[in-house]
Amino acid sequence: MSNKVIIFCAPSGSGKSTIVQHLIAKYPIFEFSISATTRAPRGQEQDGREYYFLSPERFRELVSQGAFVEYEEVYPGCIYGSLRSELERLWAKGSIVLFDIDVCGGVNLKRIFGDDALAVFIKAPSIASLRERLKGRGTDTPEAIEQRVAKAETELSYQDKFDVVLVNDNLEKALADAEALAEEFIARP
Ligand code: ADP
Ligand code: 5GP
Repeated sequence: MSNKVIIFCAPSGSGKSTIVQHLIAKYPIFEFSISATTRAPRGQEQDGREYYFLSPERFRELVSQGAFVEYEEVYPGCIYGSLRSELERLWAKGSIVLFDIDVCGGVNLKRIFGDDALAVFIKAPSIASLRERLKGRGTDTPEAIEQRVAKAETELSYQDKFDVVLVNDNLEKALADAEALAEEFIARP
């Protein structure tokens, strides 16, 4: 069996976390790739659980050693990257590595892994519904919501570079569609 990866990307508020958490709970063969980042831990986050938290110097050192499959400055001053060592660790266990990363990182990984990757772009049915979901989630200020919506317009322009676009309109249907994609990919040799 080949070493496989499944990649999920979406504009913020599309329902990516909801769908990915469902798949992780249902299919133990999927395991998250824990990324490295230069941002500080938030709240209860622990090093080695949500992220590997690195100083910018250490991050740069690892970049120069070729330790990353991909990395991006996702927010000004905050770099995030997928470590080769993390992929090897999870593949050695027989897992399919699941990536939850930004759209540019997702496109890069699909280019690298080709047919060994399933790249899924999740989107809300419209920008208006995306805005409503962000408001409903209640985790962002009105300014942050508008920033996320503005970024979504750019992110949507990358959707054609993905294997599948999953429209999350009715959540039950989106979860069933995601399960069908996951099962087909798990069964793929
Ligand atoms: P993301 O991880 O893409 O930022 P979330 O999974 O946090 O998105 O979902 C954003 C909000 O939208 C959450 O409050 C979630 O409960 C809600 N949500 C998810 N899917 C749907 C759906 N199909 N219809 C309505 N609300 C949804
Ligand atoms: P947060 O700081 O809120 O945890 O995450 C921020 C953003 O960084 C999200 O859009 C997430 O998908 C993205 N991200 C997390 N890890 C990686 C990574 O390894 N590579 C890339 N390119 N993006 C990542």
